[in-house]
Amino acid sequence: MEIRIEHLNKEFPSRDKDGAPTKAVSDLDLVIKDGELMGLLGPSGCGKSTTLYMIAGLKDPTSGFIYFDEDDVTHLDPEKRGIGLVFQNYALYPHMTVYKNVEFPLTNLVIEEEQKAHDVAYEDTLQEVLLQQDALVACLEKRKGKRGNDTAIEELIRVFHITPSLAKEIATRIKKSEEGYAKSIEELLSLSKERKANSLKNWQDKGFVVDDHYVLLRDGKSTTVHRRLTKDERDTLVRETAKLVQIEDYLGRKPSELSGGQQQRVAIARALVKRPRVLLLDEPLSNLDARLRIQTREEIRRVQQATKITTVFVTHDQEEAMSICDRICVMENGEERQIGKPQDIYRNPNCIFVAKFLGTPPINVFRGIIKDGFLYLGEEPVLETPKALENQEVFVGIRPEGFLPLPKKKDLVFTLSVQEVVTQGRDTTLVFSSPLCEQEQGKAIIDSDIEIESGSHRFGIKPTKIYLFDKETGKRIPL
Ligand code: ATP
Repeated sequence: MEIRIEHLNKEFPSRDKDGAPTKAVSDLDLVIKDGELMGLLGPSGCGKSTTLYMIAGLKDPTSGFIYFDEDDVTHLDPEKRGIGLVFQNYALYPHMTVYKNVEFPLTNLVIEEEQKAHDVAYEDTLQEVLLQQDALVACLEKRKGKRGNDTAIEELIRVFHITPSLAKEIATRIKKSEEGYAKSIEELLSLSKERKANSLKNWQDKGFVVDDHYVLLRDGKSTTVHRRLTKDERDTLVRETAKLVQIEDYLGRKPSELSGGQQQRVAIARALVKRPRVLLLDEPLSNLDARLRIQTREEIRRVQQATKITTVFVTHDQEEAMSICDRICVMENGEERQIGKPQDIYRNPNCIFVAKFLGTPPINVFRGIIKDGFLYLGEEPVLETPKALENQEVFVGIRPEGFLPLPKKKDLVFTLSVQEVVTQGRDTTLVFSSPLCEQEQGKAIIDSDIEIESGSHRFGIKPTKIYLFDKETGKRIPL
């Protein structure tokens, strides 16, 4: 499902009587494509969570529109939007087991469906299972010890994807005799056929015809009913979702008996169990330690790709957003600064804010001047510039990987004072300082095979890794 946001605004009134309101989100336009994982990225207070809560329906926009496909949901109640929400603090119920936590959203869920002959469907499924004798016997043979039937029931559910009630009937009715299972299976098969015939007759007596999909038709028409999910249906959904996020083994535990990453997976399962149209994640990884954060973010990506559910992921961590999102929307002061694929934004930032926000180590920013057809950093011309850009002061961004430590004779060069050389495996980081640099210390990353010692060094600059920005507006100046 596609989410379309048009001219979205949110203002919070000031706490002071005469103070100006806080513009948390300003004129936001954003389209999140069907099945896409979109990251809302920006520093604290930029309006990411407010945007997410407006999509969820937990906050009402001051103006603007939110559409889910063609439906205008701008002012629709949260529970009618078909969303699953996951917060930073997993917010699980501590006294309930994992199973109950995941099942909880289903307990009061009322669904609308065509009235069906579930009893007939039950018998058909039972007969299908009974005809697959080898697989069936393999499940029943798992019965050993006191809880033998329970093991067989679990196995039947796993192998045949049937409901617990059906599995229970099979496990309790089919017994092994001296000749094996065949006689018992035959008896249950004929009982089931008899029950199916009775059910069909029952429906017929009430004036219904059962179609191929078990829908009950009267005068050729179906009727819609509202009902709660049965225990079996809830169980199937809980188990399917638990499998998806790989928490099947913890269903009997309490949240306090799980790691932070496992708890967050339970929270994700709880958000997904109702099969929402949209999954909304608000800083879901912030409470986890570094290792679990990486593991869980990969898990989120895997689940999102498996379900193809349209997902919005709020984070202030650029690395996190870059690693799992299809596209990201970078925000500052409630406004969208740039939308695109992570690598495209990294390679082509449209303003200095975005350039600085994406990348570790961050981009180095210098004060430069354009004159006589060149960009000068101090006294050194480092780049040829188009005529149209004459005589202006600019901000110059150079990515850490943009420095060439062994420039050729004909190359334009930039001299930097290297203070520290840190080699880590493949890369060497050079820490430098420069009076032209906006940061106290800048960083260059070079191949660790190149030996460099601290002191003054001349660097060439890769043309694709240098960006010019307007000194007043911060906007990118195309070269
Ligand atoms: P963080 O990462 O810190 O959660 P954020 O990008 O999600 O930040 P929001 O929580 O959306 O930012 O807040 C955006 C702006 O709106 C901030 O300036 C914040 O102080 C303000 N704000 C948020 N909620 C309210 C509120 N209920 N009343 C007043 N101002 C609010």
